[in-house]
Amino acid sequence: MPKKTKISSEEFRAKIIGYLNYLKAQPSGFTYYDKPTNQAKLDELHAPYSNCMQCPLGSLGRQNVVFGDGNPQAKLMFIGEGPGQDEDKHGKPFIGRAGKLLTKIIEAMGLQRQDVYISNVVKCRPPKNRAPTPEESATCTSLLLFHQIAIINPQIICTLGASAAQALLGADTKIGAVRGIFQEIDGIKLMPTYHPAYLLRNPAEKQKVWADMKLVMSELSNSL
Ligand code: URA
Repeated sequence: MPKKTKISSEEFRAKIIGYLNYLKAQPSGFTYYDKPTNQAKLDELHAPYSNCMQCPLGSLGRQNVVFGDGNPQAKLMFIGEGPGQDEDKHGKPFIGRAGKLLTKIIEAMGLQRQDVYISNVVKCRPPKNRAPTPEESATCTSLLLFHQIAIINPQIICTLGASAAQALLGADTKIGAVRGIFQEIDGIKLMPTYHPAYLLRNPAEKQKVWADMKLVMSELSNSL
């Protein structure tokens, strides 16, 4: 039998530190003992749908499936209706005219786009920017949006416009009746507000959205 050699605690610690440094130097895939990050969970969720054909929008001229953008650990999540032309072209939500206004709103709240997560009810552009049908919404939310919400687990969701409010609060929701009043889904506070595209057509309504965002900011700061 080989003789066991006793090593000092200094040698033992040095061995462990050496081993940890060896592990840290490995490619990230090697760190199998880490819990998957929210980004990894989102990537895994999205992967099967990169060419999704689960609803009619898959074959109605879509160029890109626009999953979402921003911080996968965000406390605040914005949900719009569906990608428009620019979003479809570049694969990123809210980057056209309405998106630029949303970015301004986020910055006026003292945040950056990369602090929040931005997604949509449907991930594929409806032709001529029509509203998604109830079937398209139901399919896409059950396959993707609800899972995105579960992974990110934001403190507050802010829905933008009627389609998003209806997708999360029920088809009979009237945006004019619920706007500016915190709702709740599955323990998450939900603030329904107007869509930035509506504000571009009706600039006088911006003050209502700003009032809603102040309520959101106050709720976020209460939790710090
Ligand atoms: N409008 C939306 O609802 N979502 C986008 O991503 C862009 C415009």
